[in-house]
Amino acid sequence: MKSKQKSKIGIIGGGPAGIFTAVFASENPDNEILIIDKQDILKTLIPTGGGRCNLAYGEFDFRELVKYYPRGEKFLLSVFSKFSTADTLEFFEKIGVKTYMQEDFRIFPESNSSSDVRNKLLDKIKKQNIKIIKEEVTDTEIKNGKFIIKTKNRDIFVDNLVISTGGRGIGQKLAKKLGHNIIPIKPALCALKTEEMDFYDLSGMTIKNLFAEVSFENKKVTEQEGDLLFTHFGISGPLSYKISSYCAYMNFSKAKPLNIKINLTNLKNFEEVLIESIKTNPQKDILNVVDTYIPRGLAEKILLKNKINPKTKSGQLKKEDRKKIVKNFTEFKMNVTAVKNGEEIVTAGGVDLNEVNPKTMESKIIKNLYFCGEVLDIDGLTGGFNLQNCWSTGYICATALK
Ligand SMILES: Cc1cc2nc3c(=O)[nH]c(=O)nc-3n(C[C@H](O)[C@H](O)[C@H](O)COP(=O)(O)OP(=O)(O)OC[C@H]3O[C@@H](n4cnc5c(N)ncnc54)[C@H](O)[C@@H]3O)c2cc1C
Repeated sequence: MKSKQKSKIGIIGGGPAGIFTAVFASENPDNEILIIDKQDILKTLIPTGGGRCNLAYGEFDFRELVKYYPRGEKFLLSVFSKFSTADTLEFFEKIGVKTYMQEDFRIFPESNSSSDVRNKLLDKIKKQNIKIIKEEVTDTEIKNGKFIIKTKNRDIFVDNLVISTGGRGIGQKLAKKLGHNIIPIKPALCALKTEEMDFYDLSGMTIKNLFAEVSFENKKVTEQEGDLLFTHFGISGPLSYKISSYCAYMNFSKAKPLNIKINLTNLKNFEEVLIESIKTNPQKDILNVVDTYIPRGLAEKILLKNKINPKTKSGQLKKEDRKKIVKNFTEFKMNVTAVKNGEEIVTAGGVDLNEVNPKTMESKIIKNLYFCGEVLDIDGLTGGFNLQNCWSTGYICATALK
């Protein structure tokens, strides 16, 4: 009896998305799988979550989970309906990665080690019949119904091609050459440079759970909440990441900055609270009163900037100075002139989702061509969402290939 012809699958990019595709697609013994990566596979997993690997987020309703993606929300509805947070945790448990959820719903391995997660995935890959080629892909072509993956050393012929080269790999270029529209790549989840440099020496200071209103060219763009970190060039931390993601496609610059207004006190009724506090502490220096509400270094800077002597007895504070304090503490303004390039956690943009089938991850333009992970025009906020995108789209792609 003639043996059944194997289907050869070439996966360009052995990051989280490509590896998930390989793991599940190899469950079909008729699939012959090759991963081609220019570096050691899953190397990109090592720095995730500051080395702890925030591998998922504790939202188990997929209709809610999609809301954490500035791009890809609609597309992911179908994807997450088949493979979501619970499936991710079940998979990792099966390969020996026990997980736990933090108070903020971010999910990590119990070992708190991304290398541990990587090693467990590598063990799984070794057990399955998956070939790994460590070479840089330079091009792809289609000839007689087969894909040719080109590296410096060889041409590799495959029946099915999966492109999972991440946000900054060669994937978008390959996809474009194969006829796909590419949404321009922009940095997302990044630190932001601000016009105001007078907070330079507060670098490293974090203020928790702040609320910010963001406008551009006098129009409100978004409202976001999160921890703010002052840096030597501007701001960073969760609040900055969210703002950068939601404003990824705004052409802000020194001439046309993004305007951010932050309530540093976290209080809606700060004026009332301050009046009461002054009444009870009329002999205290004003700095010693207001430093209850925001970090002392920042409070002092704001007072000095507004020409208010920090040593003024609070009972003697003029009404107009009190008004200035309230305004500056609750509507603290920063002008964002640029993103801090090269340090982004993910990229916005990528392969246009209108040209990919969310039920299979197959191209709607070229048969047997698939995309998964960050190469697609999908990006989430910080919290485990970007890896979830990789696990889920990788799984869907593999299921179609099975
Ligand atoms: C510092 C940092 C921390 C992060 N932490 C988290 C976190 O805790 N949780 C979370 O959800 N997300 C996190 N992310 C985002 C997450 O890591 C990415 O979204 C995810 O790695 C994307 O996976 P991917 O498989 O699509 O692509 P990648 O992980 O980028 O993998 C792509 C692979 O393709 C290969 N490749 C590219 N071009 C070529 C070529 N020409 N030839 C051959 N191979 C090629 C690359 O070598 C790479 O191995 C973090 C990102 C960074 C940078």
